[in-house]
Amino acid sequence: MPRATPAHEPTASPAERRSRRSALLAWYDANKRDLPWRRTRDPYAVWISEIMLQQTRVDSAKEHYRRFLERFPTVRALATADLADVLRVWAGLGYYRRARMLHAAAQAVLERYGGKLPATVDELRALPGIGDYTSGAIASIAFGVPAPAIDGNVDRVLSRWLAFQGDPRSTAGRARIRAEAAALVEGVDRPGDWTQALMELGAVVCTPARPSCLICPVASSCHARLRGLESEIPPPKARRAAVAVEHAAAVIEDRGRWLLVKRPEESVNAGLYEFPTAELTEGGDVRRALASVVRESAGLEISVGETAVEVRHTITYRRIRVSAFHAKPRDRRTADGHSGRASAALETIWVVPSDASKAGLTAAARKIAGALLRESASDT
Ligand code: SF4
Repeated sequence: MPRATPAHEPTASPAERRSRRSALLAWYDANKRDLPWRRTRDPYAVWISEIMLQQTRVDSAKEHYRRFLERFPTVRALATADLADVLRVWAGLGYYRRARMLHAAAQAVLERYGGKLPATVDELRALPGIGDYTSGAIASIAFGVPAPAIDGNVDRVLSRWLAFQGDPRSTAGRARIRAEAAALVEGVDRPGDWTQALMELGAVVCTPARPSCLICPVASSCHARLRGLESEIPPPKARRAAVAVEHAAAVIEDRGRWLLVKRPEESVNAGLYEFPTAELTEGGDVRRALASVVRESAGLEISVGETAVEVRHTITYRRIRVSAFHAKPRDRRTADGHSGRASAALETIWVVPSDASKAGLTAAARKIAGALLRESASDT
């Protein structure tokens, strides 16, 4: 029986690292998925893909990646675009802070480096929205720099290779995994492929639940597998309990147009448009709450009618049910030329329903608009 390595001190020998590098790269060469961002080493395209993939699944990212690069093919095109345009093209990917940071970073790259992305980890990390992981990924994939890039997949794979039984998210755990990732990439002659190979293994073989050890190219040197610990490493994260939240939205209609308000800076989904929305408290009067939100946000007095549609969506641990109500301005004259009126706390626009999606809507507003349009199509 080999001596068990203490849980706080897992190690990898140089021979083990050599064997993992060659086995994993050979497997990657033969098995890698054909993904659009793997057909280029253009630093700008690599950067866009890495930001998109942070919180978006590969399948959803593919179409957005194509559309984004078509609309903003260069750093300069992105840097000089209106933020509203960038948010519109980003719509559907969620986590809009990423799009705002991309836009700000493109402006910094244009100003500091003439539109060419810098090649060092430190310079990349100094740009808005680029942290340890993204700087390592861009530097290694686009510039061949032997820099580690540790995302959730890599974290899990390395924890298993080392049979690291501590918490990989703790300070000590992070340092241990980072040291191993750095040692591995340091000795590789294709750092970009190595970075992608590690992520690929984590995405398709060494998955969180039930890793496919039987087809894994590094099973013979994986300490978790050798000790039968692959399902226990890494330990599960404590999950925050889901919270049910009730919202009401006002679909204010006047002469065939809807009123939308722009989400304020520093809020979730900042810069996107939505139907004026109130978070409801138990026992509160829905119509009064909506009228008050519309008065404050849009500077308009409304009459609230019947429920129009109901939609559900989830933001992290919040399970939100939104009841959308038909509503009308009390005085039609006040709706005339109402967009952007001074008494409104938020920027407002009137849109023809069929054009609403062009405004850049929040996920909830997209669902409400879609349901209303489907309903009116089935009525005609
Ligand atoms: S042997 Fe299993 S646990 Fe180890 S890296 Fe491969 S898939 Fe993951």
